[in-house]
Amino acid sequence: MNFNLTEEQQLIKQNAREFALENVEPIAAELDKTGRYPAEVIKKMAELDFMGMPYPPEYGGAGADYLSYILVVEEISRSCASTGIIYSAHCSLAAWPIFKWGSEELKQKYLVPLCKGEKLGAFALTEPGAGTDAAAGTCTAKADADSYILNGTKCFITNGGVADVYIVFALTDPAQGVKGLSAFVVDANLPGFEIGKHEDKMGIRGSQTTELVFKNCRIPQTNLIGKEGKGFGIAMQTLDGGRVGVAAQALGIAQAALDEAIKFAKERVQFGKPIATKQAIQWMLAEMETKLQAARLLTYQAAAAKDEGKIFSKEAGMAKMFASEAADWICGKAIQIHGGYGYIKNFKVERLYRDAKICTIYEGTNEVQRMVVSGSLLR
Ligand SMILES: Cc1cc2nc3c(=O)[nH]c(=O)nc-3n(C[C@H](O)[C@H](O)[C@H](O)COP(=O)(O)OP(=O)(O)OC[C@H]3O[C@@H](n4cnc5c(N)ncnc54)[C@H](O)[C@@H]3O)c2cc1C
Repeated sequence: MNFNLTEEQQLIKQNAREFALENVEPIAAELDKTGRYPAEVIKKMAELDFMGMPYPPEYGGAGADYLSYILVVEEISRSCASTGIIYSAHCSLAAWPIFKWGSEELKQKYLVPLCKGEKLGAFALTEPGAGTDAAAGTCTAKADADSYILNGTKCFITNGGVADVYIVFALTDPAQGVKGLSAFVVDANLPGFEIGKHEDKMGIRGSQTTELVFKNCRIPQTNLIGKEGKGFGIAMQTLDGGRVGVAAQALGIAQAALDEAIKFAKERVQFGKPIATKQAIQWMLAEMETKLQAARLLTYQAAAAKDEGKIFSKEAGMAKMFASEAADWICGKAIQIHGGYGYIKNFKVERLYRDAKICTIYEGTNEVQRMVVSGSLLR
């Protein structure tokens, strides 16, 4: 493993940083306040070939490696965690199952427009009664002639209502339990598919989170991804990649918090000197940087393992768990360094603190990551 990024990776990271500073940073606070979806930013990201970054050019992608894509998630999230997860859910969770298990017909019809950024994707596994226990879902997909008929409700779906294409998991054979779970591509505009409740969230407020409601929604049989009964494996393997994206999102948030803390510590004068001259503040900054770098190494290691085609569930679990908890802690310390100002909405660290928390929860809570990591040790 060598994390001296290649020249190309450094360039991608720098481009993403410049793009984020110019286009994302100026609207991040407004997105947080209003909960608006940043359509104009996603359109520009498509123009820069970001939306299909780790996919081959023949499917409209940029043909970059996963680590390069992870660098983009990190830099975008450093300016706006909402935009980071909109992007990561699209790229890691919606496009991947079609690329890895979809038929050529599905790739041409859905993967190409997803990679070109002409369409936005979402991934729908969670249900009201099936969160951590994803195998307990009750959505059904009943075969009927050359179609499947979908019924049920998904909840907490990122990009709900703004996505054009949804990866939906439903039981084709409920009697088989999780072995009867299958994955489908579902178009947003189908009759019988409605967007339910929009969640009002603590953080990542520019990212839409909604229910999806299916009532006798008929989808073509050809929209099955892979084979019937393979849905759980597809979901879990897709989430491995997604978790590296969440780790990168956490890195971006944590880096932003550290940047703000350093700036504030140099500017804020108490007892006649900047607070940066106090050892208590210096030690906090030193620990923040150390945790951030450790999280970065774990995250890049997981991305590199994916690029090498290895099974990387453990690496992804460690990266997601460590980076999200580091981000949560670093944002807390950044607020501490800001004193009372850190608690006031005008200061960026207040938003970062709220945005960081979700990284410990979605795409498998950190309790799940501990199960994944310990499971790989005890096998
Ligand atoms: C903003 C947001 C966006 C999301 N986006 C998506 C999305 O795009 N697609 C999607 O499918 N889902 C999405 N989710 C759902 C998310 O992945 C789930 O919320 C998460 O997996 C946890 O499920 P739950 O909320 O039902 O919590 P529960 O499963 O009810 O867990 C509650 C608590 O119990 C713990 N727990 C549960 N089981 C165990 C166990 N066996 N051992 C130890 N502890 C356990 C959990 O770790 C947690 O602390 C999103 C959620 C949010 C909040």
